[in-house]
Amino acid sequence: MSTTRIECSDRVVGAILASWRYDISGISPEMRRDYESHFAECARCSARQNFHRSVDVTLAVLTSLAALFFLFALAVLKHIRPLEHMAFNVFALDREDTYHMLISAGVAGLIFSLIALALVLMATPAPSYLGGLAAERARIIEERLPEALKSLRSR
Ligand SMILES: [Zn+2]
Repeated sequence: MSTTRIECSDRVVGAILASWRYDISGISPEMRRDYESHFAECARCSARQNFHRSVDVTLAVLTSLAALFFLFALAVLKHIRPLEHMAFNVFALDREDTYHMLISAGVAGLIFSLIALALVLMATPAPSYLGGLAAERARIIEERLPEALKSLRSR
């Protein structure tokens, strides 16, 4: 038996989880318990769950970066006039046409990347996953707080 291919310990549950992209955040807590115990015992499914969640987060980060990039490009177009001079002198482009073309491209890119981000956030459990990570962080920080601070907070 090869070590690179780990078999799922329960194929029926594994197939259901695969069809959900290993996302169980949308189902009721009672139903979730069975799937959570499967993730705990099945190395294959928990590895795939981690993989899919990191894909979701990567997509969310990339689409946000794209939106920021286009926002930045629009800000540059609006505020940095000297850049224009270079473009117009070097490439001998028509001033108004080029400016409008660049602005439209920037606006189109911004809208497109915002739509893509919205789709990613709706179609994947990235928001709840990131929320969970943040809650986990907060809990760890809370535990590390000195006793004196803790007693202040609980008052
Ligand atoms: Zn499994």
